Amino acid sequence: MKQRANIRQPRREELTSVNEDGSRYAIHPADVDGRFTQARRISAILLIAIYAALPWIQINGYPAVYLDTDAMRFHFFGITFVSQDLWLAFFLISGLGFGLFYVTALFGRIWCGWACPQTVFLEHVYRRIERWIEGEAVARRRLDNADWNVSKIWKRLLKHGLFLLISISVAHLFMAYFLSLPQLWNIMRESPLENWGTFVFVSVFSGILYFNFAWFREQLCIVICPYGRLQSVLIDDHSTVIGYDEKRGEPRGKPTQDGVGDCIDCHRCVQVCPTGIDIRQGLQMECIGCAACIDACDTIMDKLDRPRGLVRYDSQEGLAGRATRLIRPRIILYSFLLVVGASVLIFSLQGLTHASLTAWRVEGSPYYLDQDHIRNQFIVRVTNKLNHSADYGIALDGLPVDAVATGVDGAFTLPENGEAVKTLVIRVPRNRFEGNFVMKANVVDSEGGLLAYRELEFIGPQPETSNQ
Ligand code: SF4
Ligand code: SF4
Repeated sequence: MKQRANIRQPRREELTSVNEDGSRYAIHPADVDGRFTQARRISAILLIAIYAALPWIQINGYPAVYLDTDAMRFHFFGITFVSQDLWLAFFLISGLGFGLFYVTALFGRIWCGWACPQTVFLEHVYRRIERWIEGEAVARRRLDNADWNVSKIWKRLLKHGLFLLISISVAHLFMAYFLSLPQLWNIMRESPLENWGTFVFVSVFSGILYFNFAWFREQLCIVICPYGRLQSVLIDDHSTVIGYDEKRGEPRGKPTQDGVGDCIDCHRCVQVCPTGIDIRQGLQMECIGCAACIDACDTIMDKLDRPRGLVRYDSQEGLAGRATRLIRPRIILYSFLLVVGASVLIFSLQGLTHASLTAWRVEGSPYYLDQDHIRNQFIVRVTNKLNHSADYGIALDGLPVDAVATGVDGAFTLPENGEAVKTLVIRVPRNRFEGNFVMKANVVDSEGGLLAYRELEFIGPQPETSNQ
């Protein structure tokens, strides 16, 4: 109770993290333990391990996730995308978007509480360090208010030094996704002047991370993150959220009092909240779904020998004592969009091969008239996406009899990630030309297997004029 007197009491209509005069109020959530806290800790360790490991894992000669901006290639778990495959990003991004809508409609802000990098790093790295150096919540608040002395200076220097070090490490690791580890290592050993663009990016990004995790913290979720703002439209009364069972908890009172609910007004759920809100005031935009208040309240209920779940995962309907419906119009709609998007993406991915082809008509006249022929010219570009050299050939389908194609004859070898640009010239005898037609330019491998194709239209004058 002593602690409660020192901390700011949340009010639904104002931000707990901002004082009345507009200055920042530092939130120091109290430590909590319980099944959700432990599960979140394991999930955070796994997620951080995945983030750190992906640049080290090699698949088909490339890091598992590698956005090679120099070569304009994206290597993703053994699949290589080149700039010509960019259209797939539409399905990927929209699929992720609908996936998030779907998960949110079902489980509320489970992403924010369990998997968002902001929460994972803040709660499980930076705040752990802060607690290790400055002590638990009451001690941290006391240190905030204390005059500067040797101990405070030392603690602050150590804390911010470690924060800075971790921010720089996270930023470097992020760069490894774009440069690969060997290249990053080479750059790190060179003078910043030789790679000033990378140096500036990493410095700025490290600074942003440090600012965010050392000071800005929950403001990012409350003020900046657009996902948090979308909650009210993405969820409904049947979505699973974290809420307080008002029917069971109210009226609040002492454990020994008669005629009161189960909430003893101990404020533990408020003290542990990383955004400083009181879950008993209802569902609020600031709630990131971290479940700390569930563990806090369950501990109190255990001590009082009362059933757990006064604060729990449930829908608004469930908390009001009514049945929760799983199948709702928005769930059906999001499921439909998700299935359509995922099907198109899977179908498209299956069609991806280790070569890509682009082709376009040579600038200038769409066709040329020789004495006996109509001539069309195209530029054909073949890209080898493999990390070793490979043999390719270009074959044409749909040419009329007596048509002649030159410029793409014979097999050719492309080096690792190499490309060939060829000029394809097609001549059709004027007396054989019966109107515009579509043909296919196919890229084949050394055994004749089709890897990619493009349709090209042969254009000529109207047949009655071409023979004049
Ligand atoms: S932790 Fe539980 S009992 Fe304590 S104030 Fe919060 S809801 Fe009430
Ligand atoms: S109200 Fe509960 S779930 Fe929401 S942010 Fe606070 S502690 Fe986490």
